[in-house]
Amino acid sequence: MAKRDYYEVLGVNKNASPEELKSAYRKLAVKYHPDKNPDNKSAEDKFKEASEAYGVLSDKSKKENYDNFGHAAFENGGGSQGGFGGFSGADFSDIFEDFFGDFGGGRRSSRNRNSNNRGSDLRYDLSISLEEAYEGKKQNIQFSTTEKCNSCKGNGSKPGSSPSRCSYCGGNGRVRSNQGFFTVQQTCPQCAGSGEEITDPCSDCNGQGNTQASKKIAVTIPKGVDDGTRIRLAGKGEAGMRGGASGDLYLFINVKSHELFKRSEINLFFEFPISITDAALGATIEIPTIDGKKAKIKIPEGTQDGKQFRLKGKGMPFMRRGDFGDLYVEIKTEVPIYLNKEQRNLLEKFREIENEKSNPSIKKFFQKAKDFWKN
Ligand SMILES: [Zn+2]
Ligand SMILES: [Zn+2]
Repeated sequence: MAKRDYYEVLGVNKNASPEELKSAYRKLAVKYHPDKNPDNKSAEDKFKEASEAYGVLSDKSKKENYDNFGHAAFENGGGSQGGFGGFSGADFSDIFEDFFGDFGGGRRSSRNRNSNNRGSDLRYDLSISLEEAYEGKKQNIQFSTTEKCNSCKGNGSKPGSSPSRCSYCGGNGRVRSNQGFFTVQQTCPQCAGSGEEITDPCSDCNGQGNTQASKKIAVTIPKGVDDGTRIRLAGKGEAGMRGGASGDLYLFINVKSHELFKRSEINLFFEFPISITDAALGATIEIPTIDGKKAKIKIPEGTQDGKQFRLKGKGMPFMRRGDFGDLYVEIKTEVPIYLNKEQRNLLEKFREIENEKSNPSIKKFFQKAKDFWKN
């Protein structure tokens, strides 16, 4: 089942303040809390849904990711389908301490110790031309991000000193408590799960383990990308906190519209205007193709307006495959909008000798019209 929008789940709008989010969540959490609704699956689901929504929207960087990517932002977040078990980084300690003492959501047993410290994902929008999408390209992109601090190598402690065991959780990274029939386990609020405490913070990064940086990387845009293609560059996002994994960088491709070619997935299309004489007499025409070359089409005599020609393999490449789509050329016959004297004379002469054989549709239409008038 598709996930509901997190704002919708909490019943708030996108500009809701942290206090509004908290209060909206609080209402739902109190209403649907499993303690109050024993053996009620639907209440449990609602409780989980609200907790997941709040877990994301109450975290500044996760909220930003969600606002940018929607649920897709967390697709790689650690197997949390349908619940908040394992939900990466959601920290409910604040609200649960307010309401349920030390209740922290009892199902987060499978989480990675350092998942709280994973760096944020980043989004980079890249606009390219249709020709570039056809050929693929390499490009350098520059963006600001956080990188592992050089002085402390990311551990946050002043060089020469090392972190000590977290005094709150004793180095476990989690704290446990019993709440009635729940055994509750929660990420240590002091060390965010790392189990360590920095006693002598690195002065370059204030103990964070990473610093702001402008990064330049070369990216490869594969042949055949389409407007809206999303390319994930694993580990190229922000550095994790204190040794946590880096986030990912998502390239969002925008393919600009083209003067000549229209694209529909892997096929290309354009309208080609020809004169009525070429349409009537037949001709060989030269048309442009996306690779910058030309192709020839033989127009047979008597070609009607709207006739489509298909050029196999002259479309866009399939991404990560060797083959190509097709190019469709639609004939538009152009009726002359200006005639000089000689042209007019010739066409008038032609009109006198036009007959039913040269214009069968006209004959057919008038036959039908005559029958209609008769009745
Ligand atoms: Zn440092
Ligand atoms: Zn701790």
